Amino acid sequence: MVTVKKFLWHHTVLEQDNAMASPRTHKTATPERETSSDASQAELAEENRVRHAIVEAVLSHRLPPGTRLVETRLCEAFGVNRSLLRRVFVRLAGDKVIELQHNKGAIIAQPGPEEMRQVFEARRLIENGIIRSLGKKATPESLAAVRELITQEHAAYKAGEWSKWVRLSGEYHLQVARLLGNTELEDILRSLIARTTLMIALYDSVGSNVCSFDEHNEILKALESGDGEQACTLMGAHLHGAEVKLQRDTSAPEIDLVALFTQPL
Ligand SMILES: [Zn+2]
Repeated sequence: MVTVKKFLWHHTVLEQDNAMASPRTHKTATPERETSSDASQAELAEENRVRHAIVEAVLSHRLPPGTRLVETRLCEAFGVNRSLLRRVFVRLAGDKVIELQHNKGAIIAQPGPEEMRQVFEARRLIENGIIRSLGKKATPESLAAVRELITQEHAAYKAGEWSKWVRLSGEYHLQVARLLGNTELEDILRSLIARTTLMIALYDSVGSNVCSFDEHNEILKALESGDGEQACTLMGAHLHGAEVKLQRDTSAPEIDLVALFTQPL
């Protein structure tokens, strides 16, 4: 059976861990006599819970670009204090999920057209270079792992699991990069993919398949047949097409933050 190597999205907006859960349904229990280490672990778990809930809301289009994150409303929604929420904000700002504005607080990021252009250009240069360097190095086993990912992408898309599909579509690109076995390049690409995944989540309309699994499949077929040049051409066209399809929506509608994070989906 083909298994896809589980990938850890270190230091990216896509990072997942066991702390991820919906608000108010997964509070961290506080032991009666906890050590300071236990306390800091519990705090970290709370930070992760809040951070992941916000990232998940962005990835599933429930928090559009420019939405103001009102601290008092979020503290109420998550049952956390302001200092914990601010630590979460600092981490989310580091991942470029939110923007911290002086005297105005936090808003969901609104990456502009020039930032989008530069990130996609960087991806095209790196990913085309990786595929060109691959040549015939990819083994049937490693390509089978890429094929398994496409199957998962398709399944998530068909099931309407939007945020899962967004993650898997990014992971496809990393899985292809991994065929080269250059972890330095993977690290650079991982960060760029996290940025573009966020852009897709922010600006793409649900179900448009902007990072198309059909195109992923065509690229894979070219790699399987050993046609590196064709794979390169297809990858360049795929990334260019994804960039063009992402239309920026600058509107920032009113969002009820308490309802968003406390009511069932
Ligand atoms: Zn793609």
